[in-house]
Amino acid sequence: MEKILAVKGMNDILPDSSYKWLQLEAKLRDWLHSYGYSNIRTPIVEDTRLFKRSIGEVTDIVEKEMYSFEDCLNGDKLTLRPEGTAGTIRAVIEHNLLYNTTQKMWYIGQMFRHERPQKGRYRQFHQLGVECLGIKGPDIDAEIILMINDLFKQLNINGIELQINCLGSKDERSHHRQDLIKYFEKYIDCLDDDAKRRLYSNPLRILDTKNSKMFEVVNNAPKLIDYLTIESRSYYTRWKDYLDQLGIQYIENHRLVRGLDYYNLSVFEWVSSNLGSQSTVAAGGRYDGLIAQLGGVDSYAVGFAIGMERLLLELEHIEGIYEKPKYDIYIANFGDKTDIYALKVAYKVRELGFSVVQNFGNNSFKSQFKKANNLGVKYTLVIGEEELINNTVIVKNMQSGAQEIVKFDSLKIDRE
Ligand code: ATP
Ligand code: MG
Repeated sequence: MEKILAVKGMNDILPDSSYKWLQLEAKLRDWLHSYGYSNIRTPIVEDTRLFKRSIGEVTDIVEKEMYSFEDCLNGDKLTLRPEGTAGTIRAVIEHNLLYNTTQKMWYIGQMFRHERPQKGRYRQFHQLGVECLGIKGPDIDAEIILMINDLFKQLNINGIELQINCLGSKDERSHHRQDLIKYFEKYIDCLDDDAKRRLYSNPLRILDTKNSKMFEVVNNAPKLIDYLTIESRSYYTRWKDYLDQLGIQYIENHRLVRGLDYYNLSVFEWVSSNLGSQSTVAAGGRYDGLIAQLGGVDSYAVGFAIGMERLLLELEHIEGIYEKPKYDIYIANFGDKTDIYALKVAYKVRELGFSVVQNFGNNSFKSQFKKANNLGVKYTLVIGEEELINNTVIVKNMQSGAQEIVKFDSLKIDRE
């Protein structure tokens, strides 16, 4: 029979690496809690209009990366979420979560983008996202940078660079945009097809090109920073001042524009020197207009997302981050009808607070002990027909080799 395989670009996370995900996620939850964030869980599928309206019609994601489909049962137009901000803001508006209060929220989960799969870029991937709503900034923008900085420190990650920029407001961007179009029209022959396509729809994105042949023309293009009003400039300066005072190093990258339409003022990316071309591990910024744009009250917002797969790749070469899962006890059984007794013993030992792996089936003495050794358990409990009759268990200390026969009713095992 023909085998059915996973969908291209969508990966299984198997037991030999899933424990790393679990341990990393536990660390991340502690870190988020320590900064006062609470968890929000929204659906993976949303109304397609939500993403078009929030991410923007002329973005890579909406133009060519979304998994959109029609529900064949009722004709609803749906999309697998390509990112988490839109759904979070939809939920915030729907449940009135900003009524007389602010919100600090995080989520983690699968995102879907129909991209060309390669290392660090998949069609199903995971993001950890943080959204901080109702706070004007720039103090909170600085806390967000501080917290990511802190995480990378806790995880011993080096060789990762913080890049920042200020995107100003819509009005400021529209003046810049006009000059940008005029400038690029002059250099139209230097633009690649993607840039030509973007010229009138989203020229700002041309600045973000990864095509090195265009770097020169892009570097000399009008800079958005020169179009910012005093208000935006002062916001930017205050943000940088907080970062300086917190001792955080950053690089100002005037070409940093981010791929989604909803950003304004502060934007930032953490770029790794270890990940080749898929080098952005975390990215985010301020998106004050989005809540109103999705039908909520006008409010402030800033957030970021970490690409989990890229974070795990970054951690691959760092010692001491993960611990291989260990079990305390192995239960070996031999002979007729000892299996039910073994289940009871295992249950009792778990009640005493130990983790237990039990033998199932008629395996040889040798293979059961091999298994126990491979698991690295502290104790193996051995149950044979004699133990079944006497209601006892042989407790073997795997380190010292010492054995002891213990009554089932008074079964106790030392922690050490
Ligand atoms: P890139 O420039 O790499 O395409 P992006 O600007 O599209 O990134 P964002 O939308 O800002 O990415 O998403 C935040 C983070 O999610 C990225 O910095 C990256 O770590 C991760 N990410 C985005 N797309 C993918 C993908 N297809 N596969 C794996 N991780 C991804
Ligand atoms: Mg992308």
